[in-house]
Amino acid sequence: MCCLQGVSQLMAMVLKTFFCNPACDVVHGGITLKLPDADLITIWFDYSMALQDGAAHKYVYCLKGDSGCRFCCICLNAWASVSEVLDEDDNPIMICVMCKVSEMVPATDADLLAAIDRLAHRRATIRNNATFERWQKASGLNHQPNGLLLNDDLRSKNILRPVSQYCHDPMHTMVANGVMQVVLWCLLVELGHHMDIWSCLHSYIQLWFSPIHFKASKLHEMFGKKRERSCKDAKKFKCIASEMLGVYPILAFFFQSILQRGDLVCELELKAFLACCDLMDLMMAIPLEIVSPTALQGAIENFLLASKNAGCKFIKKFHWLLHMPEHLKKWGKIPTCFSLERKHRLIKRFARSVLNTQDYARCLYRETINHELAKLKQPDIFKAGVFLVRRHHPSAKTLSFLCEYFKAGVSKHQCFVSNSAHLQPDGFAERGDVALLKAAEGDHGPWGACEVWLHVEIDGHAPMSLISLYNFVRYDQNLYSATWDVKAAPMFVYTSDIISSTTYKKSAGQVITLIPLAHR
Ligand SMILES: [Zn+2]
Repeated sequence: MCCLQGVSQLMAMVLKTFFCNPACDVVHGGITLKLPDADLITIWFDYSMALQDGAAHKYVYCLKGDSGCRFCCICLNAWASVSEVLDEDDNPIMICVMCKVSEMVPATDADLLAAIDRLAHRRATIRNNATFERWQKASGLNHQPNGLLLNDDLRSKNILRPVSQYCHDPMHTMVANGVMQVVLWCLLVELGHHMDIWSCLHSYIQLWFSPIHFKASKLHEMFGKKRERSCKDAKKFKCIASEMLGVYPILAFFFQSILQRGDLVCELELKAFLACCDLMDLMMAIPLEIVSPTALQGAIENFLLASKNAGCKFIKKFHWLLHMPEHLKKWGKIPTCFSLERKHRLIKRFARSVLNTQDYARCLYRETINHELAKLKQPDIFKAGVFLVRRHHPSAKTLSFLCEYFKAGVSKHQCFVSNSAHLQPDGFAERGDVALLKAAEGDHGPWGACEVWLHVEIDGHAPMSLISLYNFVRYDQNLYSATWDVKAAPMFVYTSDIISSTTYKKSAGQVITLIPLAHR
């Protein structure tokens, strides 16, 4: 951890190589590159957003983080106070239960830079270390002479706008040791007084199937005996982000069903968790550009109020949420750190296998870069739209079926098949998935549904999918779920008519599919 103090300095050096380079003014002049076809392209750079998790923000900007009284540097009034809520070691925790965006007093770039300067001045004038530490705690800042925010070169070029650039990562906020884990734990503890909720969920989740591409066939293990013991020992719900993302729609269906039955046990905790699921649905839909800042703010305030009513432990991440509508308004999107954090795994994978300890770092660089370059050479790596993934020529049996179905000669060399297809705008439909279809004329429901069997591409025409079509029965708008009659009705549809794979459950000849927010 000792090297983390240097992260801020390192960030300053990296930014200086871009923005304080005497050879090129990348902000105003840009860099002109020559493309292979001799066209020119000019790229301008700006340091517009610092998207990070809490720890990274803390080290890059030299913040006190959760240990400071003023724990949010982009608000002027985000003070934490001692509460009656206890932490894992039964000590009272510092909390801040702001529930509305209007309660926040936003700081400006100048406010934060001035606070950093005042702290630097105090370091120069206060001899007593204990007194100075109290100033650091009160301001929520750590004084670091070579830190990013004290870098004169970057400040003179107006590159550092720490408040306007600050962006919270929505996935760390919600599901990586985030607010959803807190609210779910609160609910499980309360429900545990009335029933064996852990065993119940362990059995119930096994009835559901997630899209195959998610590789989430073991979600029920989150509620197994071993995990139950581990969570109870830690006094919090422990799971990784991908597990929570896979399981929360199933839990929302289960708990909403309980609420609808009118059992008023743990009503406040149930409502808080369901509000959290609604908010998560909205967060997931932000990349589709269908979520407005106003809608996001409404869902966040509703969730915070419900959580406060339920007595949930307000960790600092609850406060991060209040900044999200402003992030969305400013940038039109809120990206997540996950796509880059996955790269950690790759480096760790090679770090374990490299045995050359004399030239360790260089070996690790080489292995990692080689792997990345090999990946970039894969076909279809940046391809968008509808296409067959890892397509191949069909077997003799499949070819004969296709010739018979289309009543035409199909050449093996001009025919490709695959168990997996990429969908528009995103997602995959794999063999065995239950998927939603665009409604066809004469359909009873707002969508169709089917089981996916095979994807085919013949003679370069648009891909088609062999499916078994279901019959629409009803849509339940409280449970965000549709019920379908299963029948063996094989047919071909255009793959572009498949909307998305869904999470589903089978029971007594029927299938219940959860409907993603974008299609409700
Ligand atoms: Zn704040």
